[in-house]
Amino acid sequence: MTNKYMYFIANWKMFGVLNSLNTLNRVVKFFKNFKKRKSLKIIYCPPSTLIDPMSKKLRGSNIEVGAQNCHEQDVYGAFTGSVNSSMLKSVGAKYIIIGHSENRQAGETDKSINLKIKSALKSRLSVIFCIGETLKAKRKKITKSVLNKQIKAGLKNIKNNKKIIIAYEPVWSIGTGIIPKSDDLFKTISFIKKEKKNYKVLYGGSVNPKNINQLKSINNIDGYLIGGASQDPKKFIDIIKKTYN
Ligand code: PEP
Repeated sequence: MTNKYMYFIANWKMFGVLNSLNTLNRVVKFFKNFKKRKSLKIIYCPPSTLIDPMSKKLRGSNIEVGAQNCHEQDVYGAFTGSVNSSMLKSVGAKYIIIGHSENRQAGETDKSINLKIKSALKSRLSVIFCIGETLKAKRKKITKSVLNKQIKAGLKNIKNNKKIIIAYEPVWSIGTGIIPKSDDLFKTISFIKKEKKNYKVLYGGSVNPKNINQLKSINNIDGYLIGGASQDPKKFIDIIKKTYN
């Protein structure tokens, strides 16, 4: 059982239409009656199209809403298809995921991530800053230097900030069903916490009801960023319940 204050962040990625919001009913009901509700924060990060209706639906539930990405510029501009941090804030986002490996793989750079984090903070959003090494880097045993570079570049010229949470997501673990060995994960999270003192550090990558017992025994993790399993309310609730069992 954990006694820590934990984050459970749902990353819906590019999934969901208006009807998908019905799946939240079960989570809202669960959270309302959950005895340990004061020990955790639940945040849903749906696609941008669902931020406004989701925020309205979750009003009064203590479940918060976040975005998944933003443009690096915080003022309006001629950027077809993009949204900026203040636009996301205006429809109800309180958090934002920045630097997710799926975006890094699509060409997002450390510099762009740094600008996006600054823009998000300016718009008074809390940032879930994702870092993680590829399988190739892991095999080359350069995980620490990769993470160090991502942290330094992503948080360049940003003072220690309580509005930033780091999510360690090894790329080889996302959507694969594979999680790091407990000992390795403990050491990596400790390394990140040493690099960025006083920051909360979450773990993300294939978190599910089957592996949560193993993960919860790693006592320096401050919560989870959950992709696939977060789209299924039963799995999401099970993860939370088992964490506090
Ligand atoms: C993610 O996309 O941030 C993630 C952790 O995905 P999954 O849980 O599906 O591996």
